[in-house]
Amino acid sequence: MRFLELEKLRQCFPILDKKVHGMPLIYLDNAATTQKPAVVIDAITDYYQNINANIHRGAYFLSEEASRYYEEARTKVQHFINAKLAKECIFVQGTTKAINLVANSYGEKYITAGDEIIISAMEHHANIVPWQLLCERKKATLKIIPMLPTGELDLTKLEALFTPKTKILSIVYASNSLGTINPIKEIIKTAHSFGVPVLVDGAQAIAHLPIDVQDLDCDFFAFSGHKIYGPMGIGVLYGKEKWLTEMPPYEGGGDMILQVSFEKTTYNQIPIKFEPGTMPIPEAIALGATIDFLNSLDIPAIRSHEENLYNYATEKLATIPGFKIIGTAAHKISLLSFVLDGVHPHDISTIVDGAGIAVRAGHHCTMPVMEYFKVPATTRVSFGMYNTFAEIDALTQALLKVSKVFKR
Ligand code: PMP
Repeated sequence: MRFLELEKLRQCFPILDKKVHGMPLIYLDNAATTQKPAVVIDAITDYYQNINANIHRGAYFLSEEASRYYEEARTKVQHFINAKLAKECIFVQGTTKAINLVANSYGEKYITAGDEIIISAMEHHANIVPWQLLCERKKATLKIIPMLPTGELDLTKLEALFTPKTKILSIVYASNSLGTINPIKEIIKTAHSFGVPVLVDGAQAIAHLPIDVQDLDCDFFAFSGHKIYGPMGIGVLYGKEKWLTEMPPYEGGGDMILQVSFEKTTYNQIPIKFEPGTMPIPEAIALGATIDFLNSLDIPAIRSHEENLYNYATEKLATIPGFKIIGTAAHKISLLSFVLDGVHPHDISTIVDGAGIAVRAGHHCTMPVMEYFKVPATTRVSFGMYNTFAEIDALTQALLKVSKVFKR
């Protein structure tokens, strides 16, 4: 991306003008959440100023407007991930909620004692704990695809994990703590050859890779709006019509029913069957605005910009004494997890914060990954579309200072 274009893009994000500790903000924690462009912030304000009403229930102008915008946002999501049908896109709180929905609803119907669920060694806690809870409840077993020291999955072990008891495979597309991009299409194909449906945790992939759920042929795909420059509190569970129709409701309440009596209650059609109560309506509409924003950009140019940032950072940071990357997969999203010999990641994060630089230190909700690499935590730098090479230079300088403070 040319400098001028990047400057223009940065101007879309009001927060990038902010000073932190008197220094210009350098935001390098995009894997945790991305910053929001003014058009997304404005969409939320506009909703409350001009549209605010509850959806699906009112036969009056505002309610009809709100319902129309809400359903339009769903159609935008449908096209964004190339779902066959809009009703296959359920609005949820985020990736975590989407996975919990499937673990509970699919789990309720299809999983019984002795059944098996496969996940991988590099999952976010959001794709571990819901399955563990289900396994506890149903007396089922969790099986794990092992990992290699590169931070890639050992897929030579995949086929052997399937048995006639395997009921679902739930797996991350791109790891939030290692950056690894898994060969998801191949994995889905293998699972399907055993008749096993696949849930894809797309929380990170959605920000960096083109997503076509029909091409992937995944059964479920989960993502959060806040990781693609959209609002918090809204995300999407995509599910094939067949599954969503067969699955029982996860949570009960208003809107998700057809008829309620004390003797018998019947449920609404999808997607509303899975959207009980008052939904985060402005956030859903603003997610639609986010997709409009993304569609207005030169996405291939942004992807190559992010890749260049990643390559530049890998090169520059390697010059720091004691620097070691955790996760060296051949295919990675623009994210770098690292350790600095003898310095705790929390100290790194606190010191670079003094220079206005936001990086993440911790286990990144992937404790089993930390355990595998025998580190308590890593420092993670993750790039977004608005990051610059100058910001990486500033980070390198700040890390050199850290290294000096700790006398390497
Ligand atoms: N999975 C992965 C791979 C993630 O990176 C995250 C967010 N860090 C989640 C799941 C959970 O997403 P959310 O907190 O938006 O529900």
